[in-house]
Amino acid sequence: MGAGKVCLALCLAALALPAAAREKFAWPEGRKAAVSLAYDDALDSQLDNAVPALQKYGLKGTFYIVPAREPVRARMEEWREVARMGHELGNHSLTHPCSAHGPGREWVPAHQDLDRMSLAQIREQVEVADVFLQSLDGYTGPRTYTAPCGDRNVAEGNYIEAIADRFVGIKLVGGDVVPDMDALDPAAVPAAVPNGVTGRQLIALVEEAGRKGTMIGFTFHGIGGDYLSVSKEAHEELLAFLAANRDRYWTTTFLEQMQWVRRQQEARGKK
Ligand SMILES: [Zn+2]
Repeated sequence: MGAGKVCLALCLAALALPAAAREKFAWPEGRKAAVSLAYDDALDSQLDNAVPALQKYGLKGTFYIVPAREPVRARMEEWREVARMGHELGNHSLTHPCSAHGPGREWVPAHQDLDRMSLAQIREQVEVADVFLQSLDGYTGPRTYTAPCGDRNVAEGNYIEAIADRFVGIKLVGGDVVPDMDALDPAAVPAAVPNGVTGRQLIALVEEAGRKGTMIGFTFHGIGGDYLSVSKEAHEELLAFLAANRDRYWTTTFLEQMQWVRRQQEARGKK
């Protein structure tokens, strides 16, 4: 028993040592932090306001498309053009199923209730969405995913774990600045969902990520319109700040960032 306790103590000490000696997580070209600009649900105000702003400041974003939504059908060629500009098209499932239970979920139709969906059904949703995205942008490699409504459970339990292998990164709504890059699970990356905030508030989160040396993922919806909206002015203030501080903050697609994070974690003996 005594030897077992000594061994346990030694093992814990050995585990703690590399952490103490570990160098800071590195971002490309010595940048301080990564910033992901993501836009969910393929909304008209994103094509009208977000894309032109990204183009103006030369920044790349990630658009999580819902193929079943009407604005996608109506503006298909424009979404194709967004991909041509170098922005990422991400998977957000085929029809955006969410839990229909709990406050504020009255809008979820019964046939889209994630709680009643099977694992096979959501897996099919995700696979077909990937095929649709490939038909838009021609990209055949693994993509990134944002869980609709941040919900994780189907009838049989957690579905995110069941689909994690096919994605380079998965955003889950909730939280803001990543606390620790080594401890970050690529299948559970926190996503801040700004709603009615100022440009200054958005920039404050970027600066916090810079102090921590980690990353901040924004998941926007409407920009100057639609729902969960951020004004055009606040959005542009953030983009102008990021463009003026390119040497400090790495603003690019979530795909590119998570490929980097995975390589770094692997090199540092994580995951
Ligand atoms: Zn969504």
